Amino acid sequence: MPRIPLLVANWKMNLCASEASEFAARLLERLQPHLADLGKAFDLAIAPAFPALDRLGRALADSGIQLAAQNLHAEASGAFTGEVSLAMLEDLGCSFALIGHSERRQLFGETDAMVRAKAERLAESRIAPILCVGETLAQREADQTLEIVAKQLTTALDGADDGLTRQLVVAYEPVWAIGTGRTATPEIAQTVHAAIRKTLIARLGPIGEQTRILYGGSVKPSNARELLSQHDVDGALIGGASLDPDSFAQIALASLETS
Ligand code: PEP
Repeated sequence: MPRIPLLVANWKMNLCASEASEFAARLLERLQPHLADLGKAFDLAIAPAFPALDRLGRALADSGIQLAAQNLHAEASGAFTGEVSLAMLEDLGCSFALIGHSERRQLFGETDAMVRAKAERLAESRIAPILCVGETLAQREADQTLEIVAKQLTTALDGADDGLTRQLVVAYEPVWAIGTGRTATPEIAQTVHAAIRKTLIARLGPIGEQTRILYGGSVKPSNARELLSQHDVDGALIGGASLDPDSFAQIALASLETS
């Protein structure tokens, strides 16, 4: 079964709820002729900041473009000021949640164990985890890329049940390529994605063949086609370029040409 490309916009701490409706209108206009292909030829999701989830969800209602969360707390509820729970994301209709984004790991001290706890919480729901993995520049220069990525994957997934693994999405995001304008070459992306695929198959069996592996790190309209045409690159996680509906639409359309 071919893997349908998945493109996910990560708005990070950008765009207010009041800007989300305008964004959605423009994106839907740009994608109009292709909306019927959503869910068949490609999947699209947007991860806005939490305050914009509701408004964006309403603006995208019935379009086939899905909602994603940038994060969640591993506990179901309780005294965790400033945090957001799985139930809250379910209530807003999220289909995906990012876990282990490198900014969470680097700036907010998230460990592999914390990422695993979030993955376990998501296993209780129909929200699919997008597990982000990737090496720093120092780790790449020390030739540790494959080892680091395998460790991040296996810590999050060891012993994980079917509920989690069937809906899992992995995003390979080399830290040195995020928001820097430096993109991994298509060859680097394919090499790491192939290694991730091998680890997934070893851990999950045939499910690993079907798991979508996204590339993230300075993806833009000018490099999307080449990256997305790599055999094991099944989509993209897009930060900066996703803040402009025209460029996000162009990347989405590139995925249709390469699928
Ligand atoms: C990201 O943060 O997930 C990302 C890929 O950012 P950018 O596209 O800006 O490098």
